[in-house]
Amino acid sequence: MKILILGGGGREHALAWNIKERGNGRHELFIAPGNPGTAQCGTNINIAITDFEGLGRFCLDNTIEMVIAGPEEPLVKGAWDHFQQEALRHIHFIGPSQLGAQLEGSKAFAKAFMQRHHIPTAAYREFTAEQFEEGVNYLQQHSLPIVLKADGLAAGKGVVICATHAEAIIEFEAMLVQAKFGDASKTVVVEQFLDGIEMSIFILTDGKDYVLLPEAKDYKRIGEKDTGLNTGGMGAVSPVPFATGDFMQKVATQIIEPTVKGLDKEGIDYTGFVFIGLIKVNNEPFVIEYNCRMGDPETEVVMPRLKNDLANLCLAAAEHRLAGIHIETDPRTAVTVVAVSGGYPGSFEKGYKIEGLSDVPAETIVFQAGTKEKDGQIVTNGGRVLCATSFGANTSEAVAQSRQVLSHIRFDDMYYRGDIGYEFE
Ligand code: ATP
Repeated sequence: MKILILGGGGREHALAWNIKERGNGRHELFIAPGNPGTAQCGTNINIAITDFEGLGRFCLDNTIEMVIAGPEEPLVKGAWDHFQQEALRHIHFIGPSQLGAQLEGSKAFAKAFMQRHHIPTAAYREFTAEQFEEGVNYLQQHSLPIVLKADGLAAGKGVVICATHAEAIIEFEAMLVQAKFGDASKTVVVEQFLDGIEMSIFILTDGKDYVLLPEAKDYKRIGEKDTGLNTGGMGAVSPVPFATGDFMQKVATQIIEPTVKGLDKEGIDYTGFVFIGLIKVNNEPFVIEYNCRMGDPETEVVMPRLKNDLANLCLAAAEHRLAGIHIETDPRTAVTVVAVSGGYPGSFEKGYKIEGLSDVPAETIVFQAGTKEKDGQIVTNGGRVLCATSFGANTSEAVAQSRQVLSHIRFDDMYYRGDIGYEFE
């Protein structure tokens, strides 16, 4: 199959890696815009992920049969909808419609969807600027801590957990009245705080049936033992030891099935990934958030564990054949450790030479994220630069292997967490 992947981070490198490895070279891959890592799996194309006209033209000129959207941005901006025009409709597009992408694009939409379909989630109310006074009264009565969420996309920064009522009211005003997150905080969701342990679930659905991909747990904080600022993700582990059989059964019946049925019932076109951010509270699952795409860095452990060819799974989804598909998973533990630029998630330098990439042992996969090629040399080009995914009989073995590999990769000011999966060791 001729496939175009949209995106250029570690997630897209992992998607491309699976399709190349598991497809045994049967597919021809293109990645827009890609990175030097994806260039090892296919051909990078210099088209922006939101240039729908350009992407459509490229697909027609190159007889692309399937497009797989990596990040949320093109989906929330209507990439699927663009590909429904007559000239492009024959191309399988993996990713939801703009309406389906609202599960991620609007927290108020997602919460209302969960409420309509009786999917367990934290109790909430939403407020606009016109309801400011009412909101302040509501906050004053609210149990502590209080979770405030900007409705729209805010680059992972739109959630604030407030320890006091005073702090919550200041933050509420900053979001609603001072437009702290611009249009994204025109509506604010006020949510009950849930105390538990988080994990990520991934399904591929055609809006009627679904397959469950390996689950994962990610590590968002910059510092070891989950300290310091939030980042895009410093590492991930799969499988998740506390995702036991009985818990996953609850996840299937209380969360996944009503989600897929809800999409169908509401006539929402959705052929793509649903990433469900869960929290386990007293052995009960609650949804923290939906995303309309795979997670990063979770994909960097999910795709290596997935023994199926992702391209075949996506084709089955596009052709509504998911029902009979069996997912094959590597039983070993996979851990990915992300190496970032010094200073991240604050300001950092780019353009440092990366050395040691050619000496990586075969058991570890290095996925590239914020890298680019300059004068024949791979250099840093972002906060999260690359990640090392290794397998082991358990978390300690896998993380030790990734650490070992990263100790031979060098760029100025490189930093990584050595304790990914620490609570499972
Ligand atoms: P992401 O960067 O993962 O996309 P986001 O900005 O979309 O995040 P959420 O995932 O909804 O926002 O929340 C971010 C984090 O805030 C969660 O991973 C969780 O740790 C915490 N959080 C969110 N809602 C709650 C809640 N109701 N109770 C406790 N913690 C919460």
